[in-house]
Amino acid sequence: MKPMQLNILKNLWRKIFKMKKYNVEIIEKGIVIGPAFKLNKTDKPIHKFQGIEKELKTLDKAVNITQSKLKHLYDSMLKDSKDLEAEIVQTHILMAEDPTFIDAIKSKICKTKISAYEAVNIVCDEFVTIFKNMDDGYLSQRANDIYEISSQMKSNIVNQKQVMPKEPSIIITDLLTCNDILAFEKNDVLGFVSSKGFSLSHASILARKNQIPTVCGIENIMDLVKNGDTIIISQNELIINPDEETIEEIKIKQIEIENFKLELKKNKGLKTQTTDGREIQVLANISSSADLEESIENNCQGVGLFRTEFFFMDKITPPTEEQQYQIYKSVLEKLNGKEVTIRTIDIGSDKPIEYVDYKEENNPALGKRGVRVYLDYLDLFKTQLKALLRASCHGNLRIMYPMIISVKEVKFIYKQIDIVAKELEKEGKAYEIPPQGIMIETPAASLISDELAPLVDFFSIGTNDLTQYTLACDRENHNVVLELDTRHNSILKQIKICVENAHKNGISCSICGELASDESLTEVLLDMGVDKLSVSPNRILNMVTKIREI
Ligand code: PEP
Ligand code: MG
Repeated sequence: MKPMQLNILKNLWRKIFKMKKYNVEIIEKGIVIGPAFKLNKTDKPIHKFQGIEKELKTLDKAVNITQSKLKHLYDSMLKDSKDLEAEIVQTHILMAEDPTFIDAIKSKICKTKISAYEAVNIVCDEFVTIFKNMDDGYLSQRANDIYEISSQMKSNIVNQKQVMPKEPSIIITDLLTCNDILAFEKNDVLGFVSSKGFSLSHASILARKNQIPTVCGIENIMDLVKNGDTIIISQNELIINPDEETIEEIKIKQIEIENFKLELKKNKGLKTQTTDGREIQVLANISSSADLEESIENNCQGVGLFRTEFFFMDKITPPTEEQQYQIYKSVLEKLNGKEVTIRTIDIGSDKPIEYVDYKEENNPALGKRGVRVYLDYLDLFKTQLKALLRASCHGNLRIMYPMIISVKEVKFIYKQIDIVAKELEKEGKAYEIPPQGIMIETPAASLISDELAPLVDFFSIGTNDLTQYTLACDRENHNVVLELDTRHNSILKQIKICVENAHKNGISCSICGELASDESLTEVLLDMGVDKLSVSPNRILNMVTKIREI
């Protein structure tokens, strides 16, 4: 085709498919450009009712296939050391086996004489409504998992196979599921765009872990996009069929981001010291093995916060002492002598667990959470302490306790340490008592930090909760997002008080809340004397670079 003809065609094309821009919700941020590939999971295949017996058989077969596919996926995840992904798949296995769910589908087939496919659809909607109406944010987001399992069962009923894109593409779907992400990972997916999405859903968690730019929130996305349309995801903007000027701008932005990342990599492994020679430790906040790998890859100087509660959530029974011991031991060994601060479970509030029976609370953020749960569930706490004391023989461990507000709580914890140490002694298991510190994440703790400092080996300031409790703004409540000023003077003043009291008592004070990675405050925090900063694995190199500039 001659250039003139090509231009005419391009102009015509632009007129027909005008560039459209939409604001979207970010699940994992990033900038990508590529062709659209639509997943037509919502198209209802023909599957007519063929009699109760036949439909029940079809359902049984589909349930068995779904379960065995999930189990296969689970095994392969474990083999690849993808523990977090494996945990998510395990939740789906439990759901696919749940008799309440399966029996409800069977009874629908028998009572209303509809096909297995229809019955799964209807029961799925019923369950989703129940879950969505739950007051609990975490549980209501599990609705996505029901969608996910149902959609897998339906595919297996009609024997639907997922077609894969032929080139790296941006996947467009009504609902993003974990299996989509797991299936497409190897096929070079550039990004995901979905109508429905919940930031706490497992699919979202996976998208973030895999760092695949993902956005959601456009109701009729499947109608707006055609296969092969050019799509741009640029932070919170989705562009369909961009004009050439926009494509050029985006390509420049992508190059800038890549160059910035390369610049950051140059600082990998360099000393984190300011230009006048002060050394600051940059540590990692982790909650999964993927986080750990990324932190090691970015040459973290240790782990400043290991959020262990994630190993307790999404399970119907708690991990045993032995299972926990193996996890902690392996983290310590992988860090090879570097400091690892493991926080005991911070459950309750937005992090509930199945086997802890929370009484209904009007305001869970001000209710039973963190250390407050330990007294009622002493065995849970003591089992974790035992695993930690045993793991301590394998590296440079420090134990940290969440949500402390009083000296009394610290003394209660030390008493439990004494008790479990004696139990381990009796059981003939090797153990060590490592340094122990507390999170300063309540105004009460910061205001009595002079009384707490002589009792503990370190402070770590949890600015996320400290901000929520100081400003009286629920960190999960979107209505008060504007009031949640993370740089509020009241927070900075408390950090200063805590650092002073820590240093007066010869202990260190670090920050492990999100404020630790706020580069506009790094200099202020260092001036106050903060000793260590613990940040998300993907912020480590940014912090190293920032500190070296100060
Ligand atoms: C904090 O509160 O700042 C913190 C690090 O703990 P989490 O975010 O896990 O509550
Ligand atoms: Mg906290």
